[in-house]
Amino acid sequence: MPQRTSMRARPRIVIVGGNFAGLTAARQLDRRHAVTVIDRSPSFEWLPNIHELLSGVKRPVDLRLPLRRLVTRAGHRFVRGEVAEIDARAGRLATVEGREFGFDACIVAVGGVNDTFGVKGADRHSMPFKSVADCAAIGRRLAALARRPGGRSVVIVGGGLEGIEALGEILRRFGRGGLLQLCVVEAGARLLAGAPAELDAAVRARSAAYGVRFCTRSPVTAVTGKHVQLRSGERLRSDLTIWTGGVTASPLLRESGLTGKSGRWAPVTPALQSKRFENLFVAGDAAELPSPLPKQAYFAMQMGACAADNARRWLGGRAVRAFKPAPKPMLVAFGDLDTFLVRGASVIASPALAVVKEAVFQVTMADIDPPLDSSALRDLTARLSGTVRNLALPTLASLLRW
Ligand SMILES: Cc1cc2nc3c(=O)[nH]c(=O)nc-3n(C[C@H](O)[C@H](O)[C@H](O)COP(=O)(O)OP(=O)(O)OC[C@H]3O[C@@H](n4cnc5c(N)ncnc54)[C@H](O)[C@@H]3O)c2cc1C
Repeated sequence: MPQRTSMRARPRIVIVGGNFAGLTAARQLDRRHAVTVIDRSPSFEWLPNIHELLSGVKRPVDLRLPLRRLVTRAGHRFVRGEVAEIDARAGRLATVEGREFGFDACIVAVGGVNDTFGVKGADRHSMPFKSVADCAAIGRRLAALARRPGGRSVVIVGGGLEGIEALGEILRRFGRGGLLQLCVVEAGARLLAGAPAELDAAVRARSAAYGVRFCTRSPVTAVTGKHVQLRSGERLRSDLTIWTGGVTASPLLRESGLTGKSGRWAPVTPALQSKRFENLFVAGDAAELPSPLPKQAYFAMQMGACAADNARRWLGGRAVRAFKPAPKPMLVAFGDLDTFLVRGASVIASPALAVVKEAVFQVTMADIDPPLDSSALRDLTARLSGTVRNLALPTLASLLRW
């Protein structure tokens, strides 16, 4: 691809989306560029732990950080707004709110959106599992359901990471009293597809005492206010249907001409440069890499850093560098019943691993928002005391009972 040198003293870089990929990109850049981060949300959200909102071991405030504080501290401008279209040829983008921004390079880090695969009634009658607000709302519905006489069936659609972590948290809070009848429905042959098969067996074994039903090889064909219809013809009673696991590309990619043949994600070169427009870099879940990667937060952060470096290089007329992913082991939390560390084909299970998962969360949040002022220090203290109260002490107590 041809290189370009910006004529401006401070070339303009606009970053669309300020979560894992976008915020990391912003933090990688310094004041030699005029950087603007645009996000429709006022908060950075730690999505890998949103399942904990179902049991109440985390509160929304524990999982959110104020984006304006994080972006301005990095020396950049934050704009709250929803980007409606990116015109790469003109080097301009427009927000739904009617504002326009020019750029010399743009980093697109918009993640994905919930996908109900066109299943009839699913958008209307199931609750999505994609943001802090979604999971806080599910937590409230679960609590209300558990208090209600009769009508307490919960169906989790999707037996992947999100669905299984959701189940673990529901069992943590509601499992012991048998307050809810739980069913997990999965279209594929087993739970946690892609992970070693023994994880499927381990999840079923840990759930056995709670009467959880698992329906694998069971695609959902329709959802109503009271039922989940399976392709087999069976109709499951459901007072609350939780839709997990379905993710598709943001319509912004298609509307800005960034998608490829699949019409979904944005194809990029090995250096994360859009295959359609050389002044656009795509990072995180939105990017379709030449060799596909799992859509994970740590890859999104690595891509954010690489996209920022390459945007800077490209603007300076220097050669861009290929993205080199550094895979990490996966930690699957199953409420307070167990935590699994998955590395390739090997699995280690121990409730004590919950402490490791929590440490990753606490350390990364503190790195993103170091306690440099009183409000950041107050937030950090609140996060740590919640962890001690809701996770560390109960985990310690259960390990000592063992
Ligand atoms: C329930 C759940 C559990 C997960 N568990 C794990 C885990 O254990 N480990 C792990 O590594 N990963 C996990 N992930 C995956 C991880 O969260 C994603 O890979 C990661 O969030 C991708 O980062 P991103 O920056 O690309 O996108 P996102 O984090 O989705 O951020 C996209 C940002 O763009 C903004 N945005 C979108 N469209 C627009 C627009 N048009 N205008 C302005 N702003 C816009 C959004 O508001 C958001 O802030 C989990 C995800 C979920 C949902």
